[in-house]
Amino acid sequence: MKKYVLPAVLLVIFEAVAIALWMTKNNLFYLFNFSYIGISVALGVSLYIREYKYARRVTQLLVGCYMLVYLGLICNENMQIEGFWYYLFTGVFEAATIHYAVAKIFGPLLFGRGWCGYACWTAMVLDFLPYKQPKQPRKKLGWIRYITFTASLIFVGALFLVHAGNMERIMFWSFIVGNLLYYAVGITLAFSFRDNRAFCKYVCPITVFLKPMSYFSLLRIRCDKSKCISCGKCKRVCPMEVDITDNSRKRTNGTECILCLECVRSCPRKAL
Ligand code: SF4
Ligand code: SF4
Ligand code: SF4
Repeated sequence: MKKYVLPAVLLVIFEAVAIALWMTKNNLFYLFNFSYIGISVALGVSLYIREYKYARRVTQLLVGCYMLVYLGLICNENMQIEGFWYYLFTGVFEAATIHYAVAKIFGPLLFGRGWCGYACWTAMVLDFLPYKQPKQPRKKLGWIRYITFTASLIFVGALFLVHAGNMERIMFWSFIVGNLLYYAVGITLAFSFRDNRAFCKYVCPITVFLKPMSYFSLLRIRCDKSKCISCGKCKRVCPMEVDITDNSRKRTNGTECILCLECVRSCPRKAL
């Protein structure tokens, strides 16, 4: 049973967050929400320990579908970046702002870009595409993320400036249209650049938060240099082109690591 300590600890952490928010916000939703996510994460980690090939995908689909279908479409909660700006500007510290604080702004200080590997509903679909490892050299297009980030901010700011009516409805429709756009652009880029995660590397506005915060992440993969034979297999399987054999924080594409553990699984010397 010792090998299941990690999923048990993760479940306890999520339950602690669930109970703390339930009590402080006096809202049973938070107990359900964080318990569900905690169970999904603990299940994925347990399956990984049992060497189930699709362990990460199980968590990604459980959490991604829940957020997209239940929170987004059924509860009308805009969990995209526009929803974050909207709730931030209205001063409401509820689902979308809590979600961003936990998963995308402060959480990455602890668990890096775990969100991108195990929960994002955009990547949940992109990861079904055929280019799991990039088949073309990386492009210098990372600047696009700053444009999409700024555009989302201007869009929501403009709605406030013109005192748009029925903002809740606008936010719901911007969630639908925004997601459709993300999927369309993400799938087009994946096939154009032969890289499933091209959208994550160049376009996704959330990486403006994720990248600098995950630079300081406590949870990171390290390489045991005494075991490594420099075979390069870890780099070949990496969807994000991270040089995981470099243990420094400045490792190439270090802030792109989504903790998918493909490198760990493929290392013939168990050096990672
Ligand atoms: S980079 Fe953006 S689209 Fe990609 S997994 Fe992360 S949050 Fe999702
Ligand atoms: S796969 Fe393992 S042995 Fe090969 S380079 Fe990477 S860490 Fe070293
Ligand atoms: S370095 Fe390893 S864990 Fe990180 S993205 Fe690449 S393959 Fe996944």
